[in-house]
Amino acid sequence: MPKKELLDAIAGEVIVCRKCKLWETRKKAVPGEGSPESQVMLIGEAPGYWEDVKGKPFVGAAGKFLDTLLSEANLSRQNVFIGNILKCRPPKNREPQPNEIKTCTPYLERQIQTIQPKIIVTLGNYSTSYIFSKAKIPFNGITQAHGKFHKTSILDMQVTVFPTFHPAASLYSARYKKQLIQDFRTLKHELAQEELI
Ligand code: URA
Ligand code: SF4
Repeated sequence: MPKKELLDAIAGEVIVCRKCKLWETRKKAVPGEGSPESQVMLIGEAPGYWEDVKGKPFVGAAGKFLDTLLSEANLSRQNVFIGNILKCRPPKNREPQPNEIKTCTPYLERQIQTIQPKIIVTLGNYSTSYIFSKAKIPFNGITQAHGKFHKTSILDMQVTVFPTFHPAASLYSARYKKQLIQDFRTLKHELAQEELI
């Protein structure tokens, strides 16, 4: 089946999913979106207020900044795929719970297996810790891990993992904002070197 149809089928399951209790409080589930042919996949944490209203990833303030970051790397929403660890908003944006992550991530894994990206950019602690554990890479926090490429294997696929901070961190810390910009410039060089853009 073509990648687009597979991704549409996953999204169709997500929007009616009731596998964890987050379905009770969501307005809309956020399956993720972007090009099925993406070489680069970005993984955030969970929908926030506006994502829950619109059913789309990164459409609030952090999302605006993510657009800036993408352009720093010569990328755009048209040539990446953006997904989250959790597809439904935790009430009051509380942190994802381990049982929710366990229940929801099979959707994300199917998206990764469908897209087969060359590079996975993990945004923040939850996403990085999740992907590192799949790759059996020890995780000692995003401050240590960010800005470095890990050529590894997850879900029986060769992939390069590139962790950085969550774009929402830029909203309260000028230091994180600077580091995010720097990391996306590092990403641009790698993409050019690997002839991915
Ligand atoms: N934060 C996330 O991690 N994901 C979104 O989609 C929006 C905000
Ligand atoms: Fe289903 Fe994931 Fe939403 Fe829970 S968070 S209801 S597992 S889509």
